[in-house]
Amino acid sequence: MRADHEIDVAVIGAGQAGLSAAYFLRRAGVSGESGFVVLDHGKRPGGAWQYRWRSLRMGKVHGIHDLPGMALGAVDPELPVSEVLPAYFDRYEHAFDLPLRRPVDVRSVRLTEDGRFLVESATDSWLARGVLNATGTWDKPFRPYYPGVESFRGPQPHTADYTGAREFAGRRVVVVGGGTSAVQLLLEIAEVAAETTWVTRRPPVFREQEFTPEFGRAVVAEVDRRVREGKPPGSVVSVTGLQLTPEVEAALRAGVLDRRPMFQRVTPDGVRWADGTEQRVDVIVWATGFRSALDHLAPLRLREPGGGIRMDGTRVATLPRLHLLGYGPSASTIGANRAGRAAVRDLLAELGQPLDPVT
Ligand code: FAD
Repeated sequence: MRADHEIDVAVIGAGQAGLSAAYFLRRAGVSGESGFVVLDHGKRPGGAWQYRWRSLRMGKVHGIHDLPGMALGAVDPELPVSEVLPAYFDRYEHAFDLPLRRPVDVRSVRLTEDGRFLVESATDSWLARGVLNATGTWDKPFRPYYPGVESFRGPQPHTADYTGAREFAGRRVVVVGGGTSAVQLLLEIAEVAAETTWVTRRPPVFREQEFTPEFGRAVVAEVDRRVREGKPPGSVVSVTGLQLTPEVEAALRAGVLDRRPMFQRVTPDGVRWADGTEQRVDVIVWATGFRSALDHLAPLRLREPGGGIRMDGTRVATLPRLHLLGYGPSASTIGANRAGRAAVRDLLAELGQPLDPVT
């Protein structure tokens, strides 16, 4: 099998998880032409943060964990995450001289006869002994299907299309979804819309207690258990509940978060519930989450019958030289950092190049 480049490790994706892995590969001394490469299809640094809506400010996210080895430092909570984090990632990539190639869209990863991975973009190919996949979820917005959805006359943006509440001014809007993004969008849209309706499949659970480290560990353990069994990881909010911030409390009091059950079908002018009641709306916002962006791994046939990928830590259980970072239990900035470190340690051991214990 021939390829344009032969390397030890291909890192796919340069978000928090990919950069963390690249940092630990550098520290382990994997370098040079045949060392490692980080392939990212974004035009700029920043991973998915560069695409987040402008009104998502640093003070509104749950807390961003520093990338390993270089702190973000104090930041004005009013600044947009889509400015602050790409600039931080850019500084980071330069500070550690990380071998980034962008924009490179990885189209497929296949196993070769000699047990290596052939990683291909439209124009280039790499043969790698190990792959650290860190492609996140932003590229795979999920929209559930409801009958009649194609007949609706108005716009139906997904969270991934949201750029701010202005376009909803004076309109009747239904927001679909039970996660943090749905609540954040609803709070913003309700300020300007003529009317908002919130629909979710399950009644939302608001969490009053603080997000303590013990609680965080319990959540991670639960998601880890699911992916070890080969089940899909599920959404974090299904395990944590929604955070009860002062803004959310105020919105609850104002009735903005009076939730209705999921409608049964979409009509040309609105939505209809199982009991026959209908509501006329101008816009349907699908804040229905994302799935892991793993289409390029399809040739490896990783999916179990239940739709998940059976994992052993960050390794794919059936292919130990392929690691999924930012997947399942590591889908947070702190989780992505830990996954980067663990994956590099385990992969280098697998490749016969154990990591220095201090790394
Ligand atoms: P990403 O940042 O998505 O990076 C993936 C990279 O892979 C991208 O650069 C993309 O261009 C690239 N890529 C994808 N497919 C390909 C391909 N085929 N070829 C080449 N490159 C590819 N977590 C927290 O810890 N704290 C928070 O406050 C927080 N707030 C959040 C708010 C929102 C609205 C959302 C949606 C998520 C939030 N999270 C938060 C979760 C957090 O964003 C992620 O867990 C973490 O940043 C994801 O990092 P990542 O490296 O896994 O993925």
